[in-house]
Amino acid sequence: MVWFKRDLRMNDHAALANAAQNGCVLPLYVAEPNYWALPDTSYRQWKFLRGAVQSLRKDIADHGGRLCVMLGSVQEALDSILATHGKFRLVAHMETGNAWTCERDKAVRGWCLDRGIVFDEFQQYGVWRGQSLDRNKWAKSWDKMMSEPLLPVPSQISWVAQGSDQVPTAADLGLDRDGIVDLQAPGRPAALQTLYSFLNDRGEPYQKAMSSPVTGETACSRLSAHFVAGSLSMREVYQATLARQEEVAHLPKSERGTWPSAMKSFIGRLHWHCHFMQKLEAEPEIEWLPMARLYEGLRPIPNDDALLNAFATGQTGYPFVDACMRYLKATGWINFRMRAMLMSFASYNLWLPWQQSGEVLARLFTDYEPGIHWPQSQMQAGETGINAVRVYSPVKQGYDQDPTGDFTRHWVPELASLEGKALQEPWTLDQPPAAYPKPIVDHQETAREAKKRIYALRRTDEARQESEAVFKKHGSRKPRELRQPRKKAKAARNA
Ligand SMILES: Cc1cc2nc3c(=O)[nH]c(=O)nc-3n(C[C@H](O)[C@H](O)[C@H](O)COP(=O)(O)OP(=O)(O)OC[C@H]3O[C@@H](n4cnc5c(N)ncnc54)[C@H](O)[C@@H]3O)c2cc1C
Repeated sequence: MVWFKRDLRMNDHAALANAAQNGCVLPLYVAEPNYWALPDTSYRQWKFLRGAVQSLRKDIADHGGRLCVMLGSVQEALDSILATHGKFRLVAHMETGNAWTCERDKAVRGWCLDRGIVFDEFQQYGVWRGQSLDRNKWAKSWDKMMSEPLLPVPSQISWVAQGSDQVPTAADLGLDRDGIVDLQAPGRPAALQTLYSFLNDRGEPYQKAMSSPVTGETACSRLSAHFVAGSLSMREVYQATLARQEEVAHLPKSERGTWPSAMKSFIGRLHWHCHFMQKLEAEPEIEWLPMARLYEGLRPIPNDDALLNAFATGQTGYPFVDACMRYLKATGWINFRMRAMLMSFASYNLWLPWQQSGEVLARLFTDYEPGIHWPQSQMQAGETGINAVRVYSPVKQGYDQDPTGDFTRHWVPELASLEGKALQEPWTLDQPPAAYPKPIVDHQETAREAKKRIYALRRTDEARQESEAVFKKHGSRKPRELRQPRKKAKAARNA
């Protein structure tokens, strides 16, 4: 039995290829209501994943099989299959999810052990179980794994059919609509189309355009949600990118444009995907604890939700922050720099614990990936002990990333008639628009105070010792070609 999880494809699918070689295949997907009741999950995430399950169901049907879809716990699904078909071998991809999926996987392993059922797990990302791989060997191992040949869809599969192939709706899982207006198209054909258009058309300005939500919307790959659903494998994206890199390198100089730097930069991000996931895999507690434990409790949970609510609803009184939040709410996606700015604003200006603001963002991201999200959230909050402290100015980012003001005016229509300074800093007007809130905090004063507190901790001997230990466990040992030039790293610190 092939248990499909977040690997919803037939191509380059190690578990499916292995099962098909060894006998009949029963393909299973389980929609788990207990997972979808967690505070980091949401309607938009299921809507996207559901589309990817439907796409897989079609692919399997086109190959003569039927995807068995069940609603409930995985153990219940396995019980019912065992009762109908007798013993089987279970195969799946290894998952680095949140604490809940980690416990679920342990329970499934226990279920199999109790019944003498073999459960084989296959690696799908450049992520190794726990701390089984020496961090110094990680980058080389990633390259090796991603360079292995892609596994084709097995040419002959003897399918076993069981139960219904109806995919539960959001209502079946008790999920309420969450304000998503413009959900990205899910499923394998959409994923392939997205990859193709990025590599051949949209991606040329990637390196420059990725920083702004205005240009990033089309110039970024937009593959993140497809990775989460597993509609594409990391290896096929990596290999397609290498092929394109080779192709553009041979173009006449006049036609090459900025493609070479775009491809190089994108390949770096593919490494980051797994580099971050490896952190959570090595230390699952960092879903709720800072990597540097010294920072634990630094930002206490506030007595009321006023600041968190203002942040979550895009009502902070900072036009560009609110525009980004409202855009994210409507689309389920925003570019990296604006994610970093949102987390910086919540952490430094509002002094909210990243666990709280991170949960708000997790629900809003269609591409919520715990292994990237939690390490990134605490990194942007300055609690890893190994990364530079980056406090983004919400005002400067507005001027830099939305120079025309169109994005801000569109998402904050209360300010539709304003431009320039009046738009990004409406509190400086003699008569600010009454329909828009005043700033909930003073961004300069709060940033100053936050830096003081963080640096006071970072300068202690204890912090230095802890940071060495964190670096040993989680730090990046980048291959030389992916290192950021010193000048750029310095510029990033002055964000
Ligand atoms: C606070 C915060 C939370 C984040 N949460 C998530 C999350 O839940 N899920 C998620 O996929 N990404 C997350 N990111 C990373 C990054 O913002 C997104 O991967 C990216 O914006 C997705 O858009 P894209 O696919 O067009 O990216 P591209 O720029 O086209 O990058 C291609 C792929 O590389 C990987 N990648 C890119 N940037 C990063 C990064 N900084 N760290 C790790 N991997 C990266 C992603 O898999 C991405 O799909 C987070 C970043 C921050 C600052």
